[in-house]
Amino acid sequence: MPDSIPTTSDIVIIGGGVAGLSTAMQLASRGASVTLLEREQLGNGSTGRAAGLLGQLRGTPAATRMLMDGVKVVAQLEERTGVEIFVQTGSLRVAETPERAGEIRDLVEMGRQIGFDIDHMTIDEVAQRLPYMQTDDLLDACYCPTDGHLQPAELVSAYLTIGREQGVVYRSGCPVRDLEFSGGRVCGVVTDQGTISTRVVINAAGPWSYLVAGLADAPLQTAALGHVYLTTRPDDRHPVDRLSPAIRDRHLRLYSRPESGGLIVGRYGSEVVQHDMGSLPDDFDMSGLSVRPDDLHVALLIDATKKRFPWIDERTPMTITRGIMTFTPDGKPLCGKRSDIDGLFHCSGFCGHGIVQSPVIGVIMADLVLDGHTDYDIEAIHSDRFFEHPELQTRPDIEAACGQMQAAYYGRIEDGGVGSTDNTSEGEPTT
Ligand SMILES: Cc1cc2nc3c(=O)[nH]c(=O)nc-3n(C[C@H](O)[C@H](O)[C@H](O)COP(=O)(O)OP(=O)(O)OC[C@H]3O[C@@H](n4cnc5c(N)ncnc54)[C@H](O)[C@@H]3O)c2cc1C
Repeated sequence: MPDSIPTTSDIVIIGGGVAGLSTAMQLASRGASVTLLEREQLGNGSTGRAAGLLGQLRGTPAATRMLMDGVKVVAQLEERTGVEIFVQTGSLRVAETPERAGEIRDLVEMGRQIGFDIDHMTIDEVAQRLPYMQTDDLLDACYCPTDGHLQPAELVSAYLTIGREQGVVYRSGCPVRDLEFSGGRVCGVVTDQGTISTRVVINAAGPWSYLVAGLADAPLQTAALGHVYLTTRPDDRHPVDRLSPAIRDRHLRLYSRPESGGLIVGRYGSEVVQHDMGSLPDDFDMSGLSVRPDDLHVALLIDATKKRFPWIDERTPMTITRGIMTFTPDGKPLCGKRSDIDGLFHCSGFCGHGIVQSPVIGVIMADLVLDGHTDYDIEAIHSDRFFEHPELQTRPDIEAACGQMQAAYYGRIEDGGVGSTDNTSEGEPTT
């Protein structure tokens, strides 16, 4: 018999991934009564599949500041829970074409201008620090010592531990079926276990968030897109130190980081896999997404991986992780209040970066819900920014635009990728 749900709550959050959990913790820490409803199990959506790479330098000072502040929030969580969440490995970006080398120059310049710790690293030093990586073809590299990765399970656990202490009510196995409205504002959340009266609903349903928005007849500009990465087992011939730097190689569309003596390698390809979240059953679990041996995305991933890490091939013992990310047309999340529906907030669309954005997003959402404003510059991520875009109001149009964004994410300059128009090389998007 599931626990009963409350009949009223100041705030109801839909979705128990990092976005909902972080927001719930911050709101409750500021005294709000919060109920978080999760369809399946807490932390088992995109959050449970993530690699957790944290690269702080982004396309704008505002976005960079958010991530830098997020690292400070994580330090507070670590202090309170005594658990290591952030592994500070540093990160390297490598360039094998003159265009990418130009990007690196621009990135170092931009970082210096805003006081971010970043510098060029010689290829000899790269080869010394990463003996398991092919470096002969590299022209330049830059290094950020304060980057690394967040451990998603530990982060979820910290949000939950502190949220529980602050009185958040969590209910899993409790899909939200409908929303109720009165006089232009949201007033209730309907589940199979009853209805909760509330004046504030936060849609943090990740890849499902466009369906939740649909309950309010409000199109949400997100699409659910597939992603895969591989994790090798420890190999004595190619030891990977747990503090080896993360690597980003936009030319090969690869990212990588150490994991338990092996290596995680992921790829943002130009091929897009759209998921129809509405067709999935209530008990759908992302860990059940199957990987066929002849899968094209896996083949392309291994092919690119071989070029940078020649000791990895189809015969290497590895695990393939497949999951679903939530993309938006411009690669930035959708956070904030719907101006046309009082009390309805969105917190979604993290485009493969929700783990690392969640610590500061929780703070921003709590500011917006409780104070009506935040000191952070959220113009670029405001959930209403596509309101006046008639070309982005139907599902086919939204899915096409989000798919194009993902395809260009690590796009090659030569193919007109994101980097060709944004010399920060990141746009916002960086894993
Ligand atoms: C393979 C992969 C690798 C990734 N690597 C990284 C990385 O390196 N760094 C990084 O920062 N991010 C990474 N990400 C992205 C990151 O995982 C996501 O951005 C983040 O987890 C999003 O969190 P969320 O809370 O928005 O969504 P989710 O974690 O998906 O949570 C949404 C929750 O809402 C629930 N829900 C949906 N509908 C309802 C409903 N009607 N009622 C109740 N509950 C509902 C779902 O069950 C789900 O648990 C990766 C993602 C994938 C798939």
